Amino acid sequence: MNTLVNKSCLENLKKSGDPIIIAAALKESEAIVNACREHGIVAKAFCDSEKRKNGSIFHGLEVIHTPSLSKKFPKARILIATQQVQDVVDQLSELGYHEFYSALDLTQNYNVNNYNHKISNSFMEKRLSIYNKSHEAYFDINKTYMRSVDVMITTKCSLKCESCSNLMQYYTDAKNTDSIPTLEALEILNKNVDHISEFRVIGGEPLMNKDWHKIVHGIVEKNPGRQVFIYTNGTIAPKEEILEKFKNTKSVNFVITEYGELSKNLKKLHILLDKYNISYSSTPAGHWVDCSSIKHHKRSVSQLKEVFKQCCVKYLYTLLNGKLYRCPFIANAANLNAIPDNPADYVNLFSKINIKKDIKRLVKGAKFFPGCDFCVGRPYDPSSRVGYDGKGMIKAGIQTKTPLEYKTFK
Ligand code: SF4
Ligand code: SF4
Repeated sequence: MNTLVNKSCLENLKKSGDPIIIAAALKESEAIVNACREHGIVAKAFCDSEKRKNGSIFHGLEVIHTPSLSKKFPKARILIATQQVQDVVDQLSELGYHEFYSALDLTQNYNVNNYNHKISNSFMEKRLSIYNKSHEAYFDINKTYMRSVDVMITTKCSLKCESCSNLMQYYTDAKNTDSIPTLEALEILNKNVDHISEFRVIGGEPLMNKDWHKIVHGIVEKNPGRQVFIYTNGTIAPKEEILEKFKNTKSVNFVITEYGELSKNLKKLHILLDKYNISYSSTPAGHWVDCSSIKHHKRSVSQLKEVFKQCCVKYLYTLLNGKLYRCPFIANAANLNAIPDNPADYVNLFSKINIKKDIKRLVKGAKFFPGCDFCVGRPYDPSSRVGYDGKGMIKAGIQTKTPLEYKTFK
């Protein structure tokens, strides 16, 4: 599949030819549009799987919902702005597009300080650095590469969103994970893969684990030069003496999801992060794709392959209690015993045998996982019924008073 994507884009995209479409309208895409203009490359539009962006203007270009792209542009040269190269190729080649380009030529020499971006220049620099590593790794087929690993450090959350895609709404005995085994598991993972670009420290609400900062420090110490993103919901402002330890640390970033009045410490958190010069982004929760029901669908193999093919989080590697999974749904469904235990769903990093081979199987070999049969799917295009049994777009952050019930397998 790698041969479908051109590593260099400058020469070909400067020439006249089919219209140039940028996939997708993301934070990094702003830099890619700037770089295109610098080099005289004329992009016509963005395509994006999120339907709500359809018809909007992003950085001067129209955003077209990907499934309807072919109505306006039956032929196109696709410039890949997302870090998930294979996802774009899978989705757009199905729609009949065959000419794909990495934007590495544009991003590797981009000077963030020549522009003002919607996100801070330091945040943009980090996003582009991860983009570059992801794309370089994509072209090195011998290596086992993970763009990002979600390190789940707690199943406790200060909110209880009834449609949490990480399944927090089902936990009745939520727990923190211990810092030492978490860091040991990461060490084993590091030794057995060629490259991980970023770590996302998540929960539940990761700041509910009082050792969150020890885990973050541990990751930073063992992974110099890699970025760590702490995903939080704005309900907790950490103590100043803890945040002070991260002052000016270039590799630590907060990603804040805002839940209106529920994010009761949002302002305080912003003030503290500004005070200690810690990089962050903060955005409203908006709308979600319904993907949190747990049900045994009993799909055929070809249906399971379709669900997996359409899934937009199948590269969201998740580490939970020493096991590595391909997505947060399977990680938490397994942890809740809401799906039958099946070693095909994960790699036990403490198993001491065949770790490298098992990780390769998880990363490169899978066409679907047994756990996918319990998931409604999480498609690129939630308005489509292909490979998806959920409700589509739903309001984010609706709270449940009590944990939701589910069937257990023991
Ligand atoms: S804030 Fe809501 S969506 Fe986020 S982890 Fe907690 S329950 Fe899940
Ligand atoms: S269970 Fe399968 S389909 Fe569902 S989110 Fe995970 S990888 Fe995607």
